[in-house]
Formats: sequence, C-alpha cells, structure tokens
Amino acid sequence: MTRDPRYDILFEPVQIGPVQAPNRFYQVPHCNGMGALRPRMVAEMRGTKAEGGWGVVCTEYCSIHQSSDDLSHIYASLWDQGDIKAHALMTEKVHKFGALAGVELWSGGAGSANLMTREVALGVGSMPNVHGHPYQTRAMDRKDIRDVRRWHRAAALRAREAGFDIVYVYATHMYLLSQFLSPRHNQRTDEYGGSVENRVRLVRELIEETKDAVGDSCAVAVRMSADDGTGTPEQPVSDDRRAMFEILAELPDLWDVNIHNYEHEMGVSRFIQEGSLEKTMHYVKSVTSKPVVTVGRFTSPDTMVSQVRRGIVDFVGAARPSIADPFLPRKIEEGRADEIRECIGCNICYTGDSLSVPIRCTQNPTMGEEWRRGWHPERIQTRSSDASVLVVGAGPAGLEATRALGQRGYNVMLAEATTVLGGRVTQESQLPGLAEWARVRDYRVSQIQTMPNVDIFLDNNLNAGDALSIGADHIVVATGAKWRSDGFGRYHHKPCLDLGPAEQVFTPDNIFRGRVPQGRVVVFDDDHYYMGSVLAEALVGQGAEVCFVTPENLVSAWGVMTDEQYQTQQHLIQLGVEIITAYGMDGFDGSRARLSCVYTGRPRVVEANAVLLVTSRIPSDELYKEIAGKIESDAPGSAPVPTLRKIGDCDAPAIIAATVYAGHRYARELEADVDKDVAIRQDRLFDPG
Ligand code: ADP
Ligand code: SF4
Repeated sequence: MTRDPRYDILFEPVQIGPVQAPNRFYQVPHCNGMGALRPRMVAEMRGTKAEGGWGVVCTEYCSIHQSSDDLSHIYASLWDQGDIKAHALMTEKVHKFGALAGVELWSGGAGSANLMTREVALGVGSMPNVHGHPYQTRAMDRKDIRDVRRWHRAAALRAREAGFDIVYVYATHMYLLSQFLSPRHNQRTDEYGGSVENRVRLVRELIEETKDAVGDSCAVAVRMSADDGTGTPEQPVSDDRRAMFEILAELPDLWDVNIHNYEHEMGVSRFIQEGSLEKTMHYVKSVTSKPVVTVGRFTSPDTMVSQVRRGIVDFVGAARPSIADPFLPRKIEEGRADEIRECIGCNICYTGDSLSVPIRCTQNPTMGEEWRRGWHPERIQTRSSDASVLVVGAGPAGLEATRALGQRGYNVMLAEATTVLGGRVTQESQLPGLAEWARVRDYRVSQIQTMPNVDIFLDNNLNAGDALSIGADHIVVATGAKWRSDGFGRYHHKPCLDLGPAEQVFTPDNIFRGRVPQGRVVVFDDDHYYMGSVLAEALVGQGAEVCFVTPENLVSAWGVMTDEQYQTQQHLIQLGVEIITAYGMDGFDGSRARLSCVYTGRPRVVEANAVLLVTSRIPSDELYKEIAGKIESDAPGSAPVPTLRKIGDCDAPAIIAATVYAGHRYARELEADVDKDVAIRQDRLFDPG
C-alpha cells in the first residue's frame, strides 16, 4: 500500500540546527522506569521506535550531576564514562534506522530530594522539595550557579560522545530551570532574579554554553512551558512568559513546548482530549523562526496534518502515542493508518515511573519487553504446528490471544457467550469519560477480521462438553471475573458486611446490565482505582444523590500512580458528590449504612436507599475447572486431550493492561521453546573496573 498524499507533509525532512530530522514524527522525552538502571531495555525500546519511523527519539530526563538524583523514580544519567557507554547502546540503535537521538539534560532543583546520592539539592532559593520530601534546597550562590553551568557543559560534551544529535536545556516541569524562570519561585535579588531578563539569564547562558560546547554537530533544544500557571482559563499566557519566549526566541535550534499544568499535559482521556495544549502554546511559532514541537496525545494523522498546516507546530510530538504504537509513523507511511494501535489515555505507562518498575502499556503488551523477552510490537514467530486453538471469552485477554495467535498463523476459534466482543472493555467504555478505552477492542477486532484463519462464534455460552467436543488441540479460557457483592476488598479482607435487602445492594456488574440504584446511594469504594469514582459520576448523571465512602484518605487513591487522582477528586467535588474518606463500611439495613473510622473505629451512620459495592472481583473460572475436571477424568489411552490454560481476569483479576499482556504472552509462548521459569533476561550494567 502507498501513503495517502494528504499525509505527505508529515514525511518532509526538517532541519534542526546542524542536524536534519528525516520526518516530522518526534518522540519527546518520556520516563519509562528503566533509565540508568536498565540501559539495554531502554535502548531496545527506543530503537524499536526509530524502526517504527519516529524521526527523532529522545531519552527521559537525564541527570547532569549527582546533585540531581530522583530515586526512587528512575532517571537517566550522564555522569561518567559508564553512562556514555550505556547511552551509546541507545544512540546506535536509533541511528541504525536513520533517526536522530535526543537527550534531555536535567537539573532537579527542588524537584529532586537526592535520596540516593545524599547531595544537598540546589535551588533558586531555599525551597521545600516539591514532592513533599522533608528536605529543602540550598539557595544557589554564584559559585553554585557556575557549578551548574560547568556540569551542564560537561554533560553536553558527554552526550555528544555518546552519539546524541540533539541536546536539551530542560526548563520546565518544576525542575531547577523552571524555578529560575518563575515569577513566583524566583525571589532572588541578584542578576538572576527580578526582571524577565534576569530570570531567563541562566537558561540563556546554558543555551549559549551548550551551543558553544557541542553546537557544531548537535542541535540545542529548549523544553519550556508556554505558560507559567499565573494566567486565567481565558488568557492562560502571561505577558511575562511571552516576553521570555521573545527574548530567547532565536537562541535554540528547536523549541519543545509544553504547558505548566502537568496533570493537563499528561491528562487521562477521562478528562483531557487530543490536541488540548494548542490553546495555550499556539503563539510560540509566531515569536520564533525555529522549529516547534508539542504534544497532545495525537493519534489521528488528520489532526497531525492540521497542526502542521495551520502553523501550530513543525513536528508532531508524542510520548504516549509512540508507546501504544511504536510503528505509528510507518503505518501512516505505508498507507495503513487504520492499523494504528491508538493510545487510550489511561496512563498505565506512567505507573512505570510512579512505581519505579519498567514501563507497561495497556494497548501495547510488548512495551518494555523488547529486550528482556525479545518481543517486537509488529513481528511474532510463526506457528510451530498445524494445531488449532479454542479461545473462550472475547474480553481483552481473549481478543489479544486470538489476534496474536492468528498473526502466528494458528487456526483459532474464538467463542463468546454474548452477542458483542470486548468483554469488560465494551462495558467500561460506556461509562462517563472512558469512551476511548473501546480502542482496546477496536484495534484487535479490526486486525482479527482480516485473518482468514480466525473464526468468531458469538452468542456461544460454552460448557465443558461443548468446549471439548470442538476438538481443538489447545483450549485457553478467558472468561473474566465478577464483582463481589459481599464487601470483600482491600480494607475488608473478609466477607464482612451485614447487608440489607438484596434488591438494594448493587455491584458494578448490575449497573453494566442496567440494574441501577435510585435515590440516595452510598458508593463504597474499597477498590481505590477508577471504577468507584466513574460509577459515582454515572449515578449522578442518572439523577442519584451520591455519597462516596472509601477507607483510603483520598478518592481513587491508586490514581496517584496514573496522575489522575487530583482531577478525579476535584471532579467528584464539582459534581456535588458527598465524600467520606478513611471510613470502612460495616453494614447496611436498607435505609442506613453503618461506617467506622479506619483510625479509631468510631462509628458513623449515613442515610441511604442503596449501596453500590466496588470492592474486588472473583475469577469466573468455573468453565476452566469443569474442563480440567473432564480432562483429568478421561481414561488414559483415550483420544488425545487438549492443553488447557486460563488467562486474564479469570486467572487473576487485574487492570486491563494485565489482561492484554496475559493474552499476548499466552500466544507468544504456545508451543514455543520458552523456559517459563526464566523467561525474562535481567538487565544489569556491572562494570567491575
Ligand atoms: P478479560 O479482562 O480477562 O479479558 P472479560 O471479563 O473482559 O475478561 O471478558 C470475558 C468474556 O468471556 C466476556 O465477554 C464473557 O461474555 C465471556 N464468557 C464468559 N463465560 C463464557 C463462556 N462460558 N463461553 C463463552 N464466553 C464466555
Ligand atoms: Fe496510552 Fe495507556 Fe498505553 Fe499509556 S498505557 S500509552 S496512556 S494506552
């Protein structure tokens, strides 16, 4: 297939100072929970994106010196020769596919507590750590400023030695340089504080010195936010910030522009839509002749073209769309835009950074596994035999197993009890704000529909006899899970509730099937992720008066990991939901819910017509057990028996990313020569010298 000419503009080369990007697809810096600790994993992941057509591929934040240490969050570093060697793994892979490699040099300021290095963090003033650690920065004196400039220059030289083509001056995201720029944080009275000219001085010096050090062969980029958080929704950009862009306009070779509010920039699709930074950053191109890049969770090639044609950007920046589909550019180039695996905006990728573990992605089960499992996002080994596979259940686990088995060339039969595909994804994507989650289903279904070796049987609620009579060589059961109705959850570790009339007690499954509580409803959330708050919103939308009760101190506490917790709680407050935190639920008698404080046990009573229990789930593994029983009871020597596995929520209920991963892993490992006990390679850089 050939490229649609409408998208030609996306494949024009663009000059960035002394280097040229082969096209306009730009993977901006993004964290991945691998960084300096897992260099081979990160190198293979970035190289795969270059192979997929991203013209520029950048690192995550990369510390210039041990006074910028963010552990336990994993970052990259360019402190010494070992770091140069580690980064060279990445730049070589990126260059192999004709892309440019960029490095985001980072000084932490009050954003780094230096818990590993135990260095005193340097700040624009004496500032408390922005992440709440009980440490403050030392207010930088002139020598400290000279040191930071020296370290930055030395790191830039190491970056060039490591093979980077683009070197960043990183002046946003509340780190050191953004605090120098800020009219609020910068209270200095010397030549680095006060006027706009003084506050941009350090950034200007670093741009000039980086250019002086490496500018003959490397482009110098600046990452800076278009606003400074002092504006209004109508006028987000202050005169102060615009003046800064005007002063620095022509100094760097490229502007990587974001916005002050990280929760918006990085917002989940529940709250933030594609292309939403434009209204804040659109002016930047009018003040500079240098190329501009921004992000916006762009997955539609038409939106990308529109951004370029309307003069908003020169490059289409992406972190999440490049994670969900490392081959997004190549698919557009090859006229296969309908095969793009679109990001759903769930931010599970961000939990790698939050939790300091290798990145994962709901849509792309190979993300982070490129090196340690040798998984490629587009290629998979062909089948090992002519065997046939029966997949039972068409939720995300069953659909991904079917898609990947089909890609391997197996004959696959997918049986689904209902008349629709998608399982929990189809149900959940109908809830407020979660429409984009249907992309998990849609990508897989559209792929499966092109496979002549896959047959789908809807409306087929199989029992064990049915499943075995089909005669498949392998059976994989992906029948999901049910929400519990007895209150067993994360705080209450036993079926604990003294619950009133069954018709006034609800679970999420009831709501999915159209049985919805009315009047005043207590939503008891002992699950702590999105489901409780999304259902609370849905009930408000249907006219209920909602009281949200959770044993946690925050609404949707695990949402901190996906950076959506603040917006979630704000949203429920704005919807008029009554919120009661730090309370467990002991019972419900049909008109009153009995609560108790998690700290003191002190009782509290809340009037309610109904309770909705969002606590935990029970695997729907009855079919698996029945089939296993029948296989076991078959006399030895009778007809050959199929292999049997259960995957996804019917094995262990979890997030959608885990079910997709389970489906993919099953398909990869079927009849493959994989020692499942040691399937992942450990990534260690140990230099005994
Ligand atoms: P997962 O997240 O693990 O993929 P889901 O709950 O999303 O699980 O999907 C499970 C799917 O399995 C649902 O679509 C459900 O209708 C289907 N299913 C459950 N039991 C059977 C059965 N006995 N036969 C066929 N399909 C089934
Ligand atoms: Fe997008 Fe979710 Fe994948 Fe992140 S984890 S890239 S938000 S689909």
